Amino acid sequence: LLRLESIHKDFGPYAVLHDLSFEMSKGEVVAIIGPSGSGKSTLLRCINQLEPPTRGRVSIGDLSIEAGRPLPRSALLKLRRRVGMVFQSFNLFPHLTVLGNVSLAQVRTLGRSPKEADARSLQLLERVGLADKAGQYPTRCSGGQQQRIAIARALALEPELMLFDEPTSALDPELGLEVLAVMKELARDGMSMIVVTHEMHFAETVSDRVVVMADGRIIEQGPSLKVMREPENERVIRFLRAVW
Ligand code: ATP
Ligand code: MG
Repeated sequence: LLRLESIHKDFGPYAVLHDLSFEMSKGEVVAIIGPSGSGKSTLLRCINQLEPPTRGRVSIGDLSIEAGRPLPRSALLKLRRRVGMVFQSFNLFPHLTVLGNVSLAQVRTLGRSPKEADARSLQLLERVGLADKAGQYPTRCSGGQQQRIAIARALALEPELMLFDEPTSALDPELGLEVLAVMKELARDGMSMIVVTHEMHFAETVSDRVVVMADGRIIEQGPSLKVMREPENERVIRFLRAVW
């Protein structure tokens, strides 16, 4: 489903990602953990080209994007449709209702009629447990509800891969749990997901594989239980001891 080949990312003179390669297959759930500043967010942003990699290649299905080559708008649109992203901050449109937030891109990007889009949005809101909020404005919703709306909005474009960047870190623990429950269900339904998280329990129990980053490199990866319980790399051992 996804292949990263020798991804490098520099910000000016600073190299943030060093020769990073990675593959995942359809239906896999991958957690990315690692210390602050290790390049986790940058990696996600390179995958969907919010930050174009300096070197390397990102392939998603039959779509292959080589750094440094001009990226046609059609390829970028294809990529954005295939890859949904949920951030730490929810970035909902405050002037649109919850339903409007989930429907907007379906009309604009998928060309659905507003009626079709709203019908689909209601199904998705149901899935994240918020069908009763459809007519509300997002500012009237809790943080956990807003994040679940953001998830429904991302799912509305029927992505093949979902990227999550610390989706619960701005939330009180209790509200974070609502969001994690929705993500767990998505994972169980077979959605391919990459989740940058500091929720070590989620990494261990929900993801199939854990990738540990430090200093812009993958320093260890493997089956979740193995990495979380019996890590081999000295830095990973220290990191897990500190955060767990
Ligand atoms: P955190 O756990 O704190 O979210 P992270 O692993 O997501 O950290 P990144 O946000 O990817 O780390 O940042 C990696 C490095 O790249 C950091 O040193 C950061 O300062 C730098 N960086 C990120 N974005 C930019 C940017 N737009 N311009 C310059 N430097 C940047
Ligand atoms: Mg980050």
